[in-house]
Amino acid sequence: MLPDPESPLVTLPPLIVNAEDEHYMREALRMARKAGRQDEVPIGAVIVHHGQVIARAWNQVETLKDATAHAEVLALTQAEIAMEDWRLTDCDLYVTKEPCPMCAGAIVHCRIRRVIFGCPDVKGGAAGGFWNLLQAPNLNHQCEITSGVLGDESVTILKDFFAEARRRKSQGLLHTKGIGGQPSVFDGP
Ligand SMILES: [Zn+2]
Repeated sequence: MLPDPESPLVTLPPLIVNAEDEHYMREALRMARKAGRQDEVPIGAVIVHHGQVIARAWNQVETLKDATAHAEVLALTQAEIAMEDWRLTDCDLYVTKEPCPMCAGAIVHCRIRRVIFGCPDVKGGAAGGFWNLLQAPNLNHQCEITSGVLGDESVTILKDFFAEARRRKSQGLLHTKGIGGQPSVFDGP
């Protein structure tokens, strides 16, 4: 349903919606849901080269018992294999949540052209949320950034995941991932 432009409470969407960005972000959201079904914090990423998806990945920190197994890092490795090159100069990375500093560093090393993300992370984001490593002038590569693509859907998946995790914990079930200390939708990767 279209928002009522007369209502003062309505935030109108951007006038120009990039359908291509939304298309690839939907694919990243599909990966995020896959992570959630595996009891991983639901974050997904895809990498696109000249209109072709060359990498799809979801967060696998718990599955692989590897703190570096964020969706972005796994996607970068896949893309490097697909391109047979560590330079991903003409590639765009879509991820459902703003990248953390580790992923942003890897993204800059791989020279990704554009980073498109869903929801921002003001606590730990490194694409302008808290830091902006993707556009640090002292590094030898800067990425274009587009934020807020399907941001509501991206944050809803995270909030639902942590709400369910808290519910399970309160019922004495074993699931405690991502809810140590002060719970936040951005705990975990
Ligand atoms: Zn990360």
